[in-house]
Amino acid sequence: MVRSFPASREAGLARLAAFTPQMGRAYAAGRNSDLGPAAAPATSMLSPYLRRRLVLEQEAAFAALDAHGAAAEKFVQEVFWRGYFKGHLETRPGLWTAYQRLVAEGHDALAADPALRRRFEDAVAGRTGIDGFDDWARELVAANWLHNHTRMWFASIWIFTLRLPWALGADFFLRHLIDGDPASNTLSWRWVAGLHTKGKPYAARAENIRRYTGGRYDPAGLDEDPVALTEAEPAAAAPLPPAGAAPDGAVALLLHLDDLHPESLPLGRARVMRVGGMVSHAPGAADRVRQADDAAMADALRRAAAHFGCPAGLAGADWSGAGWSGAEWSGGLPIVTAWAPVGPSATALPPCIRVRRPWDSLIWPHATRGYFQVKAAIPRILAALR
Ligand SMILES: Cc1cc2nc3c(=O)[nH]c(=O)nc-3n(C[C@H](O)[C@H](O)[C@H](O)COP(=O)(O)OP(=O)(O)OC[C@H]3O[C@@H](n4cnc5c(N)ncnc54)[C@H](O)[C@@H]3O)c2cc1C
Repeated sequence: MVRSFPASREAGLARLAAFTPQMGRAYAAGRNSDLGPAAAPATSMLSPYLRRRLVLEQEAAFAALDAHGAAAEKFVQEVFWRGYFKGHLETRPGLWTAYQRLVAEGHDALAADPALRRRFEDAVAGRTGIDGFDDWARELVAANWLHNHTRMWFASIWIFTLRLPWALGADFFLRHLIDGDPASNTLSWRWVAGLHTKGKPYAARAENIRRYTGGRYDPAGLDEDPVALTEAEPAAAAPLPPAGAAPDGAVALLLHLDDLHPESLPLGRARVMRVGGMVSHAPGAADRVRQADDAAMADALRRAAAHFGCPAGLAGADWSGAGWSGAEWSGGLPIVTAWAPVGPSATALPPCIRVRRPWDSLIWPHATRGYFQVKAAIPRILAALR
């Protein structure tokens, strides 16, 4: 089976429809198994669509609930992990800047330490000799996607067996994953390292890998009793920045890669007169990831033009950093955009009014600490969204 991710809402909805029958007991029972790229997937593979909001999280959660009722619990909880991580990073943006600093320091360390550099190069090229790990490194680069359990094994082996800097592993993922997401990726790597749930690292064990890969892999020499990484106490959670409200009357709508379903944005009585697209790729993103970003944006702009009945196109050419005011593009209209969570889009956005979806507003206040608070609030959040 070839895994491809055509970057359009239509393709995302088709995947959602195809996987919905499996979102109940089959998902709960099978989701931990990775039987390889040639096998039928046990999970939805919706992440490239959810990450860009070509498909909305609530569409996936309600599809599961409507089809399976209480048996959809596990799938719904996984979708809420995404919201939890986004909300957590939103209230602790310093974790993202600290991660970026660690990536830069990691590259300095590679330049200064030839042995470390060799270990790093062997890891990313799939030449470590560790059964499974080498295939996963190559699979990530070739297919731009890895199963969740495999991501966990990979990160654990990277950090604790190969003793490589965790931030360089997270950077390797973010460059190549077609669903690469600042919050889910950074915070999952921190979780594996024992930095998110302090003192509780995730250990990749050979027995677990054998079992959940159907015996395809049996790695030797893993550090199965890892000691959690430590760090200086990170800054306390900051209050959520307040969202804006779209004004009544004419506005210019700016789209970015974190939210490509403009049709459902909470825009009140605003009249959208023009739509612009801003494409801020993850730093160093692989070609196929950039192509998916571009195609997803083109798809959203096409839909926006039809939905709002106005011109829609890229709003400029270079979104590599902050500094664009948007004044010329907007023609003096107030610029409205979907809330961009911490990451490249948020950094590149010009001053504008950021509206937040109820999905985010309902989840994020619960996301300041562990996942448990979000999990406990799921029934209330879903009831509020119905
Ligand atoms: C080290 C590491 C790095 C990761 N990096 C990313 C990343 O960059 N982008 C990303 O979207 N996910 C990331 N994840 C989370 C998870 O692996 C993927 O979301 C999941 O594998 C996507 O496959 P799926 O769509 O088939 O998931 P399904 O199991 O079908 O779940 C449905 C949806 O729920 C969400 N979800 C499921 N599991 C998680 C999870 N553990 N954390 C957050 N959201 C989840 C995803 O949006 C997913 O599409 C990472 C996990 C680890 C351990």
